[in-house]
Amino acid sequence: VAQNPGEPEFHQAVKEVLDSLKLVIDANEDKYRKAGVLERFVEPERVISFRVPWVDDNGNVQVNKGYRVQFNSAIGPYKGGLRFHPSVNQGILKFLGFEQTLKNSLTGLPMGGGKGGSNFDPKGKSDREVMAFCQSFMTELYRHIGKDTDIPAGDIGVGGREVGYLYGQYKRITGLYEGVLTGKGLTFGGSLARTQATGYGLIYILNEMLKHNGKELAGKTVLVSGSGNVAIYATEKVQQLGAKVVAMSDSNGYIYDKDGIKLDVVKEIKEVKRGRIKEYVDAVPTAVYTEGKGIWTIPCDIALPCATQNELNGEDAKTLLANGCFAVAEGANMPSTLEATELFVEKKILFMPGKAANAGGVATSGLEQSQNSLRMSWSFEEVDEKLHGIMVNIFAKAADAAERYGVPGNYVAGANIAGFEKVVEAMMAQGIV
Ligand code: NDP
Repeated sequence: VAQNPGEPEFHQAVKEVLDSLKLVIDANEDKYRKAGVLERFVEPERVISFRVPWVDDNGNVQVNKGYRVQFNSAIGPYKGGLRFHPSVNQGILKFLGFEQTLKNSLTGLPMGGGKGGSNFDPKGKSDREVMAFCQSFMTELYRHIGKDTDIPAGDIGVGGREVGYLYGQYKRITGLYEGVLTGKGLTFGGSLARTQATGYGLIYILNEMLKHNGKELAGKTVLVSGSGNVAIYATEKVQQLGAKVVAMSDSNGYIYDKDGIKLDVVKEIKEVKRGRIKEYVDAVPTAVYTEGKGIWTIPCDIALPCATQNELNGEDAKTLLANGCFAVAEGANMPSTLEATELFVEKKILFMPGKAANAGGVATSGLEQSQNSLRMSWSFEEVDEKLHGIMVNIFAKAADAAERYGVPGNYVAGANIAGFEKVVEAMMAQGIV
């Protein structure tokens, strides 16, 4: 903590992981301590920070902060998204890069961990302003990335439009047409099913966890927070599998539709108009919009936090449990506070942490890289099937590690341990670097 002041999210993420790893460390005490494995594991290999100047529509120069955290390259080139949101700072990106390292390891694909972004807020900006920002951001970032070194992707505030502008600028500066970014448009190297991948993957692993514990998704009532990329496609897959999503949200408030969310209305608001979730009630007058936090007070069987970090606290967890919620799978990164996570684990509900549950996005990004290298495109079904296989496998790894270390059903410990084992093996084999 003293070495990384002012980075509470990073401390939180590290603490949760180290708590789980105690079991592994104790079992490998001499080997790990001597090699300084943990000290190296929690320190990013490199943090790059830079100035991003751009011109707004009034002709004024604006300046934002840009970052890339290259956390760990033991098992492959750095890979992880870019986040554009006013809350972005170095500590948040370090937490995300740290989590990403374990997540990428769990996918079984050769990808190291990284994360980047800016405190730029795309909300309310014109297309031209977003393009100007992206071009300036890439004018600095390009020198630190490449298809074999570091491959960024999207995250909060960075969707298809932003990836397109970033890619265009990279190509213009370097002259290279290569798979340096994932989440690209389908006309220039993007993969089918990447847009859906995180949300679909979340439901594939949720389903696996339910099946493994003698339960099923069909007929259940589900809450999904957020209304962005992950939330929308998680909702789509939940509905395809016969369960009912009754609520979604954004940072202003939440909607409750007892008849089940009409996803075409949400997609129109969020993907086409870039509007607010409250507009849902204009199209569906029987639904109710409530300003502020509070989505977790709605009774449900299953909760899927898909918005952002620390959006579900200890009180929310207690309310969910009191209302009979028996499963939580995290679409977002670290949406549950430490207190909430501990409560879910203690009460032994079915709880799948983000680094396992939302790994489908980066896994499909890995598949996009493979297609770019092969100069081929696979069909939607092919990619979706591979994604499904990867999520089933991640569940098996987390469940197996939890069993091996005597905490069966604790998928928090299982995911942390399974992700860690591969990275640490590779780090030790590569010497003191
Ligand atoms: P989007 O930008 O598409 O959507 C984010 C959603 O979360 C929006 O509804 C947004 O509401 C809401 N939100 C963001 N910040 C806050 C906040 N501070 N308080 C309340 N609500 C907030 O992002 P994604 O759907 O891509 O990402 C959501 C989460 O999933 C993030 O944690 C991300 O790291 C994680 N993730 C995403 C992956 C992907 O492939 N996209 C892969 C793996 C993880 P508003 O519009 O009001 O800001």
